[in-house]
Amino acid sequence: MKVYSIAIDGPAGSGKSTIAKILSERLGIVYVDTGAMYRTVAYYCIKNGIPTTDGQAVAEALKSIKLDIEMKDGVQHMLLNGEDVTAFIRTAEVGQGASDVGTFVPVRDRLVEIQQEMAAKISVVMDGRDIGTVVLPKAEVKIYLNAHVEERAKRRLKEFELAGKSCSLEEVVEQIKVRDHNDMTREYNPLRKADDAVEIDTTGLTVDEVADKVLEVVKEKTGEI
Ligand code: C5P
Repeated sequence: MKVYSIAIDGPAGSGKSTIAKILSERLGIVYVDTGAMYRTVAYYCIKNGIPTTDGQAVAEALKSIKLDIEMKDGVQHMLLNGEDVTAFIRTAEVGQGASDVGTFVPVRDRLVEIQQEMAAKISVVMDGRDIGTVVLPKAEVKIYLNAHVEERAKRRLKEFELAGKSCSLEEVVEQIKVRDHNDMTREYNPLRKADDAVEIDTTGLTVDEVADKVLEVVKEKTGEI
């Protein structure tokens, strides 16, 4: 079977990773979470006292970072200089740090190159902010997921609660608004719907309903399923 790619973009909490995991299972292709890569760079900076908003310092730090991705039982693990940091990168602090370091050209260029190398070899479903526009502009399927900010915040809050962290809904709404602004207004490769992406508003839809809509698009574009 031919190697093909599915690109899923959208703002924080729009349901990208949930849908990407379902597609990965249904289609038997690898799920690549690109946000985890930006998070890993941010985690390194935070751990080493490097301000994630200082472009020069972050570019310098990048030289000391060896980033590897390992797939174990279909789950992506992030290795930072050989250490598995997967369990430490899903906090709100690291999420905001990822949004900060993602504004810098050297960071994006390095991570985009890794992402493109992965998709050249195997069929992938890749999620992020710039997948359909920059990383995989020729992806066979492009999906742009969106939802109202309150609904996205509720989903994030649920994830935080499951991880044992307490936060108010208002706090999460604020965090998401800051991240949306950062991601959509950065100069280099901002979050944007690709012209040929299919946009799905997931507000008020169940996971199954969204998955069905996306699978329909995949079927139409690739003949897979
Ligand atoms: O998707 P996730 O919340 O893990 O991403 C964290 C941050 O990493 C995003 O807010 C975004 O700023 C950045 N990111 C990016 N490009 C991607 C994936 C994530 O800039 N392809």
